[in-house]
Amino acid sequence: MPELAEVEYYRKQWNPGLGGTVAKVHTHPAARIFREAPARAVERGLAGRRFLASHAHGKQMLFEFSGGAWLGLHLGMSGELGVAPARHESGKHEHLVLALDSLSLVFSDYRMFGKLSLDLVEDGQPPLWWRELPPQPLDSRFTKAWVRGFVRRFPKTPLKTLLLDQRGFPGIGNWMADEICWQLRLPPQRPAGSLDDAALDGLWKTTRHVSREAMRTVGTDWGDLPDSWLMNHRWRDGGTCPRRGCRSGLVREDLRGRTTCWCLRCQT
Ligand SMILES: [Zn+2]
Repeated sequence: MPELAEVEYYRKQWNPGLGGTVAKVHTHPAARIFREAPARAVERGLAGRRFLASHAHGKQMLFEFSGGAWLGLHLGMSGELGVAPARHESGKHEHLVLALDSLSLVFSDYRMFGKLSLDLVEDGQPPLWWRELPPQPLDSRFTKAWVRGFVRRFPKTPLKTLLLDQRGFPGIGNWMADEICWQLRLPPQRPAGSLDDAALDGLWKTTRHVSREAMRTVGTDWGDLPDSWLMNHRWRDGGTCPRRGCRSGLVREDLRGRTTCWCLRCQT
């Protein structure tokens, strides 16, 4: 599932169309991605408008069009953005294609957990739901005090589960949450309320560090994360903890519905 950095990577894939005008909108109206914004409304709402800018926030994206039209996109499990030639025939999973003069902007999603929204606003501001999103990890408003305040609201929640809560850690998904717990040497099951101030400051710092590295590599050009991280070892059966001096076998188990990977020796 796309997380902070993957979303940032996909956001940029539509950049070649910036400044172009939407000549035609092609949709698959029955596709589940239109469950909140009907396909016909999206077609009518975007036709004839210029593509002006794009923004990412956590796992969400917002595309700005002239005349106050804002297209929100969430990639869900398998959504992808890309471009295609101007006269592009929609593929089976390409549920939204914006045909510009010079190229087509494509949103494909074969599992259709992705979704979109369309806001038409007059005041030139992004829609209210966007402006009210919580601070993301690399935002200056994502402070130690903010993290402490958020975590203290959920003392019984396991640390890993809390990291997946988009109200507190927007953009953090399954692999980043496991990575943060591993780098902190804390068990993912640890109740958040058992962390003292120093541990919470560590949580703030490590969340920012993992986010920054992910943005620098994956978010830039889908580059590789450091091999010294858990991420590159967690997918292999019988994977081994990459921490120098440890090299224990990694454990993989379900935690509140999410596959979770950790090291029994380092994370105590
Ligand atoms: Zn270890």
